Amino acid sequence: MKLYADVVLPLPLAGLYTYSIPTEFQNTISEGSRVIVQFGKKKFYTAIVVKLYQPKELLSSIKDVLSTLEDYPIVTRSQLDFWEWVSFYYMCSLGEVYRAALPSALKLESETYVFLNSSFEGEEPLSEKEKNVFYLLSSSKGSSISELEKQAKLSNVIPVVKSLVDKGAAFINENIENSYSAKTLSAVRLARSYSDEELNAILDDLSRAKKQQHLLTVFLYISENTDVVKKKQLLEKAETSSSVLAELVKKDILHLYDYEISRFDYGETNIDSAHELNEYQQEAYNKIQKSFETKDVTLLYGVTSSGKTEIYIQLIKEIISTGKQVLYLLPEIALTAQITNRLKSVFGNKLAVYHSKFNDNERAETWNKLLLDDSVQVILGARSAVFLPFRNLGLVIVDEEHESSYKQQDPAPRYNARNASIVLAGMQSAKVLLGTATPSIETYYNAQEGRYGLVELTKRYENIELPQVEVVNIKELRRKKQMKTFLSPPLIQKVETALSKKEQVILFQNRRGFSSMLECKTCSWVPRCLHCDVSLTYHKGQRMMVCHYCGATYSVPSECPECQTPTLDTLGYGTERVEEEVLEIFPDVSVARMDLDTTRGKKAYENIISKFEDGETELLIGTQMVTKGLDFDNVSVVGVLNADNLLNYPDFRAYEKAYQLMTQVSGRAGRKNKRGLVVLQTSHPSHAIINFVKRNDYASFYKMQLEERHLFRYPPYYRLINIVLRSRDERQVEAAALRFTQSLKQSLGDRVLGPGKPPVSRVQSLYIRNILLKIENNASIRKVRETIEYYQNLISSDPAFKSILLYYDVDPV
Ligand code: ADP
Ligand code: ZN
Ligand code: ZN
Repeated sequence: MKLYADVVLPLPLAGLYTYSIPTEFQNTISEGSRVIVQFGKKKFYTAIVVKLYQPKELLSSIKDVLSTLEDYPIVTRSQLDFWEWVSFYYMCSLGEVYRAALPSALKLESETYVFLNSSFEGEEPLSEKEKNVFYLLSSSKGSSISELEKQAKLSNVIPVVKSLVDKGAAFINENIENSYSAKTLSAVRLARSYSDEELNAILDDLSRAKKQQHLLTVFLYISENTDVVKKKQLLEKAETSSSVLAELVKKDILHLYDYEISRFDYGETNIDSAHELNEYQQEAYNKIQKSFETKDVTLLYGVTSSGKTEIYIQLIKEIISTGKQVLYLLPEIALTAQITNRLKSVFGNKLAVYHSKFNDNERAETWNKLLLDDSVQVILGARSAVFLPFRNLGLVIVDEEHESSYKQQDPAPRYNARNASIVLAGMQSAKVLLGTATPSIETYYNAQEGRYGLVELTKRYENIELPQVEVVNIKELRRKKQMKTFLSPPLIQKVETALSKKEQVILFQNRRGFSSMLECKTCSWVPRCLHCDVSLTYHKGQRMMVCHYCGATYSVPSECPECQTPTLDTLGYGTERVEEEVLEIFPDVSVARMDLDTTRGKKAYENIISKFEDGETELLIGTQMVTKGLDFDNVSVVGVLNADNLLNYPDFRAYEKAYQLMTQVSGRAGRKNKRGLVVLQTSHPSHAIINFVKRNDYASFYKMQLEERHLFRYPPYYRLINIVLRSRDERQVEAAALRFTQSLKQSLGDRVLGPGKPPVSRVQSLYIRNILLKIENNASIRKVRETIEYYQNLISSDPAFKSILLYYDVDPV
């Protein structure tokens, strides 16, 4: 009996490739199995079997599968279905989904790099072939699989590498030395060992600092029974804040240190250590359960610091007690550290964490664990965790559901993990809980329309009031010549007061790496597009203003059309300049900065965050990174340095993002002990969005946005598909985009906009053109895709457009 397999290769190729299966492997291969195949001249890949069948007729020149890697499928049938949906909906190839879904250690190919594990002890004996390859490996310099093939004079070395990896003798892509080992815990110890007399003297000395004295007493009490006094546990027991601890550290009585815990060993499960829900949280919890009886997706709309995480923990407890699994998604790796600690203390070894800062071997380990045993029931992860092999998913939690970082921008698949996880959950009959303090317009719309359930939580934990928002008119202050720095005098004064009371401060400045825009220094006028509701982007090189959306271009006026003064100027300053200025104003304050530039290192986020938690840093300056779900307990003042940057961002979602960012960053203020203060600097103090933020008036904000979205044909009423064409040849891309647009218009009419030139119209020496489609929500997705693909084929097969690269961005954010 002849058996054929259609396989997917980890390459951006359309379609599947057929190989025949030699009889020796027929019993071990099934759908979802990994097989080694040759593709192209001398390249070997790990492919995944998508379909297995007996051919109706024998085909000639079909290559054999070379070998298998294990006798069970590494990808489940339901994963393959999910991959197919992602490839269909996000308009990319199945191979691209496969590439994104599997950790590299599981998709060995000729280009994969292999390293020696220098600490390998050889508990399991190596076969002759394995030894042969093992002695070729080095721990510092990787060898590619194709190099190893040549050196070992073996024709197919992938299975050998695989078993070396399994035995712990080799690593894929990274050597262990630079792997992610962030699993440390902040712990507290005495600065040195003291005699009892010395300790008594210290305690006496502290009699005027009652809180510190109490903290030290509690520390001594705990340390009698344990070697490691965890900082968190100490503060909880002493019911005090980290600033009190910071004082004792400053006096050199206590020391903080990092306590290493093993990466995968999260310790005992301790379900009862979860906090009990308060009355409002319990009520919300009950409503969520009730909602799940009739709805697959429910939105938990709870103000910042209302205890959403506590509710998630209770839901997780409930689900895993029935034997099911929970996927807990977070938009940023930066957030996983804090939440990991909270979940770990409750779920111990039932928890696994999965994101791209773990190395390939570790990710493969988690994959196999989920596939092969039932011990892990809770997976905390960033967006790629939707691709893990869940077998029994009961609940997906999407925390901070409004975050645009759930969308993958590059490379394909350009999927939105929030939306994809809803489909994934549907395939496994699991429920989805979307949580946020600032729902996205789309999600709230779905809730209003009854497609999603809606549960609200309007009170902060312990009834702490939402922060007071003070709007500072910087335009007015500038006019009065009082803006000597980026920080207005009222903000400086509030910061001073907070710092003198040992409270902490966050200053937020959003400066994206985008070309600056123009603003009139006199009247704050900002140029906007005539055809779209967005501000224009200033192109210094071209001396032009461009609309990000429709591609319209405008010349730069020599004077401001509003006030007739020639004071148009570029606008913008970044966090680095802010830091410099803050250090000039407050030379004795310990300042840290959190933005892309300062967080490149693997542990950088955690270091910045934990120093701020410990009170070692007093003032934190940051980009939107500081806005996202972090839970600090001693921040009393938050300053937003320039709200106008957010409002003038050239995008139809600018107001939505601005509202969310400002509300979220405000939410970092006054979380635990008392009401916080937010100072919002703006040149437009009466701007509608500023007022919504000030009043925490989501309802009015939503209403206004919905009207605009309807008027200008945007989500949630319309779906957007952005078609991106690129080429080294500008004339070719121009012509192709024009032709594509014209043919699409024949079928889709005025749903087609463009072609347009993006503001950054050449990237990596490729010229770019965009075509934007606005499709009614109720239109058939399949039909629209077919139409687009039909015309795409015409373009792709035209030799005049040989150089054109094309991709789709479905539901761009
Ligand atoms: P959110 O996720 O809504 O911003 P969190 O779940 O982070 O809010 O809660 C804010 C803070 O309040 C956290 O430090 C959390 O531990 C504490 N908290 C919330 N609910 C409770 C509770 N029921 N018992 C004890 N602490 C709680
Ligand atoms: Zn002006
Ligand atoms: Zn426009």
